Amino acid sequence: MSVLIVGSTALDSITTPSGQYPRLLGGSASYAAVAASFFGPVQLVGVVGTDFPRRYLALYRRCGIDLTGLEIRPGKTFHWAGQYEVNMDNRHTLRTELGVFEKFQPELPAAYREARFVLLANIAPGLQAHVLDQVRQPRFVLADTMDLWLNTALAELRALLRRVDALVINEAEARQLAGHNNLYEAACRIHRLGPRYVIVKKGQHGAVLSGPNGLFLAPAYPVRKLIDPTGAGDTFAGGLIGYLAHRPGSVASNLRRAVIAGTVLASFCCEGAGLSRLTRLRRADIAQRMHELERLTRF
Ligand code: AMP
Repeated sequence: MSVLIVGSTALDSITTPSGQYPRLLGGSASYAAVAASFFGPVQLVGVVGTDFPRRYLALYRRCGIDLTGLEIRPGKTFHWAGQYEVNMDNRHTLRTELGVFEKFQPELPAAYREARFVLLANIAPGLQAHVLDQVRQPRFVLADTMDLWLNTALAELRALLRRVDALVINEAEARQLAGHNNLYEAACRIHRLGPRYVIVKKGQHGAVLSGPNGLFLAPAYPVRKLIDPTGAGDTFAGGLIGYLAHRPGSVASNLRRAVIAGTVLASFCCEGAGLSRLTRLRRADIAQRMHELERLTRF
């Protein structure tokens, strides 16, 4: 069963204390799709310009990602530039050039409309809704977002939240969306906006899953060699939904392990620039790190 993923497909220019990495393959959908591809087939929805390097199309294909829904339009690919401070916790956006994304209104290929697991990776909430409108009978819809949309498209985001099963959101954004400083109270308030499951990402401090069965507190994997955290959140969401879509049994019974799968994939993501570490990964590496995390937290 394929996972449908829509989000940004970008060229990223990243500066970290360890180096400069111009025009890497990036975008929320790229990270999420590569992460989900470890568990099974992925259908990608996005748009790139004619400047998009062929080697990046080849990279998607090597991961077995279905590109029927990836448009190549005359014009420039979405370009994002960011710089990390020495502590790697703070990041500044230097440039966002929308390029062909500005007029993107995807029409889903027929096969994509049958998708059961859908990830609305970070992109304008209006576009996320436009894609969701075209999926016939989704079983589980997970949405991601960012502060930009809380500040510029809150009404669209709220309308979308009424239609999704789960929201992944970082800690500061959860507080802003809920209008409450306590994280657990904020999660309760976000449930009232629609999503049955709320997953709050806390960076190096792990993640909190809140749902009908209560809370699950997931630690982060202890990463010792942090190279570039770009895309860790997208990778987390992609790993989570990829794992869920390919496990027998109910979403409810698999969700905790899916959060751990997302956590582990995000940890690998941070160990290389852009997608470099993720694309050298084997399934066995993921399984091993999941076991290690289990061993580290059992008592
Ligand atoms: P993260 O580190 O998880 O916040 O994700 C970083 C990725 O988000 C980069 O690959 C960027 O290309 C992408 N990105 C940055 N700004 C935006 C935006 N406004 N809309 C969609 N994707 C974005």
